[in-house]
Amino acid sequence: MPEAAAASRPLAFSRHSAYRRDMPPMLLRRSAVRAAFAAALVLAAPGRAEEVLRDTETEALFRDVARPLIIAAGLNPASVQIILVGDPEINAFAGGGQNVFVFSGLIENADNVNWLQGVLAHELGHIAGGHNVRSGEATSRANHISILSLIAAVGLAVAGAPEAGLAALGLGTATAEADVLAYSREQESRADEAGAGFLAKAGLSGRGSIGFFNKLLGLEYRAGIPQANSYGRTHPLDGERIAVLQHVYETSPAWNTPPDPVLDARFQRVKAKLVGFVESPARAFQVYPETLKTEPARYAHAYAWHKGAYPDAAVAEADALLALHPADPYYLELKGQILLESGQPKTAIPVLRAAVAAAPKAPLIATLLGHALISTDDAADLAEAKPLLRQAVIRDRENPFAWYELGVVYEHEGDEARAALATAERYDLEGDPKRAAMNAKIALGGLPTGSRDWLRADDIAQVEQNALAKKKRK
Ligand SMILES: [Zn+2]
Repeated sequence: MPEAAAASRPLAFSRHSAYRRDMPPMLLRRSAVRAAFAAALVLAAPGRAEEVLRDTETEALFRDVARPLIIAAGLNPASVQIILVGDPEINAFAGGGQNVFVFSGLIENADNVNWLQGVLAHELGHIAGGHNVRSGEATSRANHISILSLIAAVGLAVAGAPEAGLAALGLGTATAEADVLAYSREQESRADEAGAGFLAKAGLSGRGSIGFFNKLLGLEYRAGIPQANSYGRTHPLDGERIAVLQHVYETSPAWNTPPDPVLDARFQRVKAKLVGFVESPARAFQVYPETLKTEPARYAHAYAWHKGAYPDAAVAEADALLALHPADPYYLELKGQILLESGQPKTAIPVLRAAVAAAPKAPLIATLLGHALISTDDAADLAEAKPLLRQAVIRDRENPFAWYELGVVYEHEGDEARAALATAERYDLEGDPKRAAMNAKIALGGLPTGSRDWLRADDIAQVEQNALAKKKRK
């Protein structure tokens, strides 16, 4: 389908569309290369820099790395979210309640998982300390909105309307964000101190944190490294602060404890995957030379080959990884994705089925299988996709891509009311109240009054109408 067709048809489920074979509009708006990765590493919030990346393996790693630190901080692991931002800056910050945003550039520049632990401990120090971010010239209300809309933008624009996602981000430029998210030096010291305590309590060394700070300081002296929005900007950094911190870390019995090898192996995989995904193929092969045959290297290579439009080479790397771990859900996901994105949905389906079987509670992987199933134009495949996608949105509501696919399934069944409800959910997530309200009303007209779906449609219609009214008053 030509890009223009997607752009001129903003309503996802116009009744007469040949949608089942279409790529989601968002995929068309991105370059083919980026699109190839979009389903597994779902690009959620678009923009020049700040885009939220979603990936099951990465999110599972973040949860497991953060958990002991969150507990040490006296917080609830279920309430703290670690969110990956696709941005080459070496940065991380806490914001919008109990959320820690970690930039892909930070992961790429971390030597091992202990570096990430150090950063998370510090950011949790800000959260546990209830530090309000200093807003520079911005009012506190404005920065509140910016940060909250950044959260709201998680999962946005996956199935279209990147502009809406960008608007919802409300950040504009990277500089604006750095202005909004600067902590005071006093808050920095307190977060350092608190973070050191969390690390010690969790039995983790502060070495990674020192390594990270030293690397940042070193980078500041190097030409060509953008510092405007780096960690050093949001978290003022100097040699004295590092020296004080190191002294505190050294008093912990965990100072000489090496990183957990299993956790670090998972970290190295995620790091390689990110390098393959975020960087150009040339850069990926620079970081992980072709002669290198380690698991992380092969992982990076698979993405780099795929990105460079060499699906056979990409599949060969995925197969080499699967030879080592035949039931690894993420390697299966990778292979399925390469096949799917290189136009082989029928071949991708059994591979993705195996991925879902290996990770049955992973809605993003289920969504990828759903995507493969609805692109075959086969009634049996659609029937298989339906329960998968329903489960996916139950487990992870903030997945417009899954709502899009579910809408396609309902559309095929002739269930226009539920197709409209799924579309309303999608637009709700995309921050498009007008279209959300419109579709919710269509759904209300066709659903049995008082049923659960009817109540949900009614809910969306009211919320979106309020949002629209609010918009008009401004
Ligand atoms: Zn800080």
